[in-house]
Amino acid sequence: MVKFGFTTRKDSMIMLDKADLSLRRTLISEYPEYQLCINCGACSAVCTAAQLTSFNIREVKLNIDRGQTVSLKNEIAKCMICGKCEMICPKNVSNRKIVLLINKHLQEQHG
Ligand code: SF4
Ligand code: SF4
Repeated sequence: MVKFGFTTRKDSMIMLDKADLSLRRTLISEYPEYQLCINCGACSAVCTAAQLTSFNIREVKLNIDRGQTVSLKNEIAKCMICGKCEMICPKNVSNRKIVLLINKHLQEQHG
């Protein structure tokens, strides 16, 4: 790691060079549009599940991009697959498709 002369809080550190980004790679290979997201947050703002729970689809994808997938199964279970997020997305990203692909991947990995 480069030494800058100051430290970073350990609980805020994300070591991307050591993170497991295999799920991100799988999602991109099966749905290349995954990469078009500009993190504008419009999907989270209209999300049905977010109005009823702590669900945040944008955060879910940010965590995948950082290799943080520990509570992923519980998180995506909150998505109602309603599709409102797709209607508002300026980049035509289908979060519904992404959630279904994550589900498929988790089923294949853990049954
Ligand atoms: S609305 Fe689309 S571009 Fe914006 S954060 Fe959601 S998925 Fe990404
Ligand atoms: S499909 Fe899922 S992420 Fe999209 S608005 Fe509906 S509940 Fe939210």
